[in-house]
Amino acid sequence: MLEKIQELKKLLSRKKNIIITTHINPDGDAVGSSLALYHFLKKLHKNAKVITPNQHPAFLNWAPGCSKILIFDKNKEKAKSLIAKSDVIFTLDFNDLKRCGDLGEQINSNKHKIVMIDHHQSPSDYANITFSYPKISSTCELIFKIIKRISDINLIDKDISTCIYLGMMTDTGSFQYNGVNSETHSILSFLMDKGVDHSKIYNNIYNSNNLSRIRILGLALNSLKIIKEANTTYMTLGKNQLINSGYKKGDTEGLVNYGLSLKNIDFTAIFIEDVDEEKIVKISFRSKSMFQCDEFAKKFFNGGGHKNAAGGKYVGTVDDAVERFKKSLNNFNF
Ligand code: 5GP
Ligand code: MN
Repeated sequence: MLEKIQELKKLLSRKKNIIITTHINPDGDAVGSSLALYHFLKKLHKNAKVITPNQHPAFLNWAPGCSKILIFDKNKEKAKSLIAKSDVIFTLDFNDLKRCGDLGEQINSNKHKIVMIDHHQSPSDYANITFSYPKISSTCELIFKIIKRISDINLIDKDISTCIYLGMMTDTGSFQYNGVNSETHSILSFLMDKGVDHSKIYNNIYNSNNLSRIRILGLALNSLKIIKEANTTYMTLGKNQLINSGYKKGDTEGLVNYGLSLKNIDFTAIFIEDVDEEKIVKISFRSKSMFQCDEFAKKFFNGGGHKNAAGGKYVGTVDDAVERFKKSLNNFNF
């Protein structure tokens, strides 16, 4: 990592106009890492701006600096003009420009330097400097390690710490996944010493549900099926169920995890029909232990992610997606 840190230091010493971007449907780690880097670059007196491909869920609105995010699909002209004027673009929490939709077309290494900071497997080769560490459990943890190495750790104040804590918490299922280690906890300890209010963050994320989300949770739980021979469960949510429950963006986030909460279940999936596009099903996978969700998602559902958390897509109906899932389970060597 040290060589890359030197390169990044050199780049930052010369460049001033910086854009930070992340993947479509930004989650806690995407927003947390982008805002942490934003606050840090501001401290280095850079013109920094966070541009996300689309709107983040409302449960992230409280994150320090969140209101300053420019949302590409609501403000394309302004975003394009800022990108055209930028010297450096940081791409956070994704490994391929496809993951940021139309915004990806604006990012081009001939026009500006690109720095990737990410923890997904198999990064594409689009950046000038690539920080890709799949063993690290969140991009936020990686941002902490990079800031610590390029500058004075004491520049990490309460706001930066809060943003980093946010992504570390959400991407590890509140510190339960395998990628969490003693170093993760020493970083958490540092962040708490900076004044992070961990209960407040937890409540902001997990205890601020909309009524619609709770209704949708009920429908998802009702749909739960067990495939006993494969130690697997799955749930489904149809477009009309979502609309009739008053669906709002973010309402289905994390519901997939309930499928893993049963005894003796190692693998689960949730199939969610897109409310805007016809015949698109978004699928989330979660596993315990050795089940390789990312391999499964890549092989059968044109997706990817991490060993214990991955996602993919299916073009067709929910029923057909479930059929494919069941067949794929038989054909996959766990
Ligand atoms: P989620 O199920 O929460 O949407 O995603 C879980 C993980 O899988 C995230 O780390 C996300 O980056 C990855 N992921 C989700 N959907 C896709 C997809 O369509 N393609 C790829 N390559 N990764 C995905
Ligand atoms: Mn992440």
